[in-house]
Amino acid sequence: MNGNSLGPLSRDVRDRVNAVVASEWGEQLIRGWNSAGWYELPGRLGDKIGQLIGAKPGETTVCDSTSVNLYKAVSAAADLRPDRSKILSEPRNFPSDLYILDGYTKNSALDHRIELAERQNLVDAIDDATAVVVLTHVHYVSGAVFPMAEITRRTHDVGALIVWDLSHSVGAVPLDLNQAKVDFAVGCGYKHLNGGPGAPAFIFAAERHHAAMQQPLSGWFGHANPFAFTDDYVAAEGIRRMLTGTPGVIGASALEAAVDLFLEVDLQEYFQKSQQLSEVFQQQVDQECGGFGLELASPPSVLERGAHISYTHEHGYAIMQNLIARGVIGDFRAPHYLRFGISPMFLSVEDIAKGVEVFREILTTRSFLLPEYQTRQAVT
Ligand SMILES: *Cc1c(COP(=O)(O)O)cnc(C)c1O
Repeated sequence: MNGNSLGPLSRDVRDRVNAVVASEWGEQLIRGWNSAGWYELPGRLGDKIGQLIGAKPGETTVCDSTSVNLYKAVSAAADLRPDRSKILSEPRNFPSDLYILDGYTKNSALDHRIELAERQNLVDAIDDATAVVVLTHVHYVSGAVFPMAEITRRTHDVGALIVWDLSHSVGAVPLDLNQAKVDFAVGCGYKHLNGGPGAPAFIFAAERHHAAMQQPLSGWFGHANPFAFTDDYVAAEGIRRMLTGTPGVIGASALEAAVDLFLEVDLQEYFQKSQQLSEVFQQQVDQECGGFGLELASPPSVLERGAHISYTHEHGYAIMQNLIARGVIGDFRAPHYLRFGISPMFLSVEDIAKGVEVFREILTTRSFLLPEYQTRQAVT
């Protein structure tokens, strides 16, 4: 129950990685850049992810991490609004997003300031001084979903641009970036997409920005002609200019095999099953685990949250360690959140019921108080 943090390994991904290592790298060596399609991999895979997020072909590519791509997207957007000073986000956004904004404003030649507005005041904080709005669509703890189209519209009404972080959205909720007229977006490959630990991230830029946009990490893979080896940087046409250096082919190949599975499913059914499982989990936890100090930390309606659900408990860390020891793998987020991913790709109603049974047992016996569940590891 952790596909929102690290999706599991599929047979397809395992077979693809084996094939890339053994026969592409192993036998084709450097020829693989041409013969095995490695050079086109970022754009080809970007277009596949594009089908899951409502992008047109040529608007999405795969490279680097979400954090690095966020830096590029924010910089590209801010450069398109040089006469404005405010970059707007929300407090308790995913920390890396806030750290990247901090790093960007310190390094940018433009004079930017970051403003963090609480969710209930956010729309009013989007004003004439705003250059860029940077928000995470599905919150990483609560799972609460922002109304993407409405906030994007408000952003455009004041003449600003928006960057959406889709890390907990892609593969979790229906998305249509072009219908919402989104400017830029980034997101993770290793969460609901099941691309494997540290899988590369994606970056989307609406076609209308391609001609004017620039990005700060102008490496040779974003050059118009990398193999001309000239001294001067000339940006490639289109989304390819968002690339920086050589892509990690093994990681991107794993992600491609994982994304191919999404292109085989009926997405409408997939999201319906996700909501059904999420509702079943919530109801059973209410019924079986009520009265033990557990509080729902997500929107109570399945329509208002992504594909994970969180609870608080004063012994949250120890309870999650105990659950994991019993084979129910969710995760813990400081200071006291228990998080459960609900992925319809590999979970069934029976799995959910088994998970809740173990949860109940742990809460009733208070086995989580045992010393072995109290020590914090480096990664929670
Ligand atoms: C998981 C996540 C990230 C992770 O960024 P990396 O650079 O891949 O470590 C960034 N933003 C959000 C909102 C996330 O949920």
